[in-house]
Amino acid sequence: MLRGVGQAARAKAFVDKLKDAPCTDCKVKYPPYVMHWDHVRGTKRENIADTVRRKWSVASIKKELAKCELVCANCQAERTHVRSVATRASTRLLQMPK
Ligand SMILES: [Zn+2]
Repeated sequence: MLRGVGQAARAKAFVDKLKDAPCTDCKVKYPPYVMHWDHVRGTKRENIADTVRRKWSVASIKKELAKCELVCANCQAERTHVRSVATRASTRLLQMPK
């Protein structure tokens, strides 16, 4: 049990340390709790926050992080909005009569 806690704490420290960097989009640096990992490539297996919660090894978390960009909460919201608009637009195109 203690080992498990140590592993989770190590993983969290590792992820928080990487979060100590500017946002990919607006280049502003915020506290770690404002920063999000946005999956931009590959197949998303898990939210990074959940990988820590589920006690993934640092090596596995690193592999998941390789698919992500670090963005702040504002830019994450912006990206999510743009994606949903794009998805709606492409769905509309698909539904248009030929
Ligand atoms: Zn930002």
